[in-house]
Amino acid sequence: MTTQDLLYMFFIFALGSCVGSFLNVVIWRLPHRGREVIYLKTQGKLTLSWPPSHCPVCDSPIAWYQNVPILSWLVLRGTCANCSTPIPIRYPLVELGTAVLFVALYLAYFIGFWPTPGVAPGQQLFTDLANDWPVFVLHLCLVAALLAASAIDADWFIIPLSIPALLMVLGVVAAPFINHKAFPALAPDALHPARWLMAKPILGAAIGVILANFLLWLKVLPQSFANIPPGPEHPDAVNAELDADKSKEEPIAPPPKMTRKSPSFIAVLAILIFLAGAWIDSTPKWASLFTVIGGILIFLIGVLPRDKGQTDVTDEVMDEISGPRARHEILKEALFLAIPLACALIAFVLPFDLPQYPWLTRVVGSLLGLLAGGGIVWLVRIGGTLGFGREAMGLGDVHLMAGVGAIIGAPLVLIAFVTAPFLGILWAIVLKLLGKPNILPYGPWLSVASILCLLVGNPLLQWYLTVLFPPTTGLVLPM
Ligand SMILES: [Zn+2]
Repeated sequence: MTTQDLLYMFFIFALGSCVGSFLNVVIWRLPHRGREVIYLKTQGKLTLSWPPSHCPVCDSPIAWYQNVPILSWLVLRGTCANCSTPIPIRYPLVELGTAVLFVALYLAYFIGFWPTPGVAPGQQLFTDLANDWPVFVLHLCLVAALLAASAIDADWFIIPLSIPALLMVLGVVAAPFINHKAFPALAPDALHPARWLMAKPILGAAIGVILANFLLWLKVLPQSFANIPPGPEHPDAVNAELDADKSKEEPIAPPPKMTRKSPSFIAVLAILIFLAGAWIDSTPKWASLFTVIGGILIFLIGVLPRDKGQTDVTDEVMDEISGPRARHEILKEALFLAIPLACALIAFVLPFDLPQYPWLTRVVGSLLGLLAGGGIVWLVRIGGTLGFGREAMGLGDVHLMAGVGAIIGAPLVLIAFVTAPFLGILWAIVLKLLGKPNILPYGPWLSVASILCLLVGNPLLQWYLTVLFPPTTGLVLPM
């Protein structure tokens, strides 16, 4: 590590803490955007930039020197300078967390704490910041977006569509300009000369997704789960309640959360089976079998619907999201998906050849990641809901993984998706041992797994392939 590296890391840490400070604003204001608020006798709609930073209790503006990330909270000892109202510790923690993750990404990419095995130093994905900054900056944006989405999901059990939509647009729009090995591209190589044949159906499916959304907007396609009144935990309900009482600007605490019962006994068993498989390396067949069985069990426990325990959800809502209604509603989503599938088929049989422009290989690679990330979550959601008769996973999770896939590509987004339940279940077991209820939705685990994939994705990819497909089979994942 050189002095230059240390200097870079110092600036990246400072940048990360400032981005974290902005994320605090996004996390609070995005779910409340558009709400009527009164600030210093001015009434207006809440946006990301209005009103300026102020204490929610005494309305006193926060000066720039009281708004320095992390440091100000320490100097002010976690209270408002004017009225001594406590400032939640989450604010400096989000700033610190963003800064640490930004630096971790720098370490992983450029110092090589986690170099890709079997790859010569000169052939590593990343060499130095001067050369690789476009992808590095793109991945920092991804980390920031995932942090914001996780915090909002943990608070409100929703992921605002604007965050994943931003990621999808960012990935596809950046694709022509970022010529880098770490950016997904669908390029034919010696192993897969026919790979480019996938390009036409991928573009067709992408056009189909836009078309299906347009039809949904025209109300030609039915909206699923449309008649559900927003639950008490939904921002719309909270905003309506707050608007009824204009004198108060900001709710003091997030709404009550659903608790989840997790089948921890089966989860522990599944993890033991998985670990047993990973450690029996003398007989690769048994190792593979055990890891696959354990992995599938863990995966099912992680993603499929389960008892929500005590909730504040009304009977009316429960009726809507469970039983035959849920199956009926999810079929509307299957109908939506039929349009991109049909478009992909039509594109595949159309008699023309798509030219292999380098920029187009990256646009298609990004789109494949988008479709793979969103598609796999959606398939599990539709399959789980049809099978269990209760809504499995959220549409927000579908959007989130589509956004992640557009930036990191199909193989890594699929690994992130299968890794997420492991993290979620380990956490559920830790909480169980501590005797605390599990109150996290699934979105944060998808986010943590995606960030893990950025940090150790390529070594992890190698590991999965060796465990699931021993080298003798010679199987290599497409793309
Ligand atoms: Zn105050």
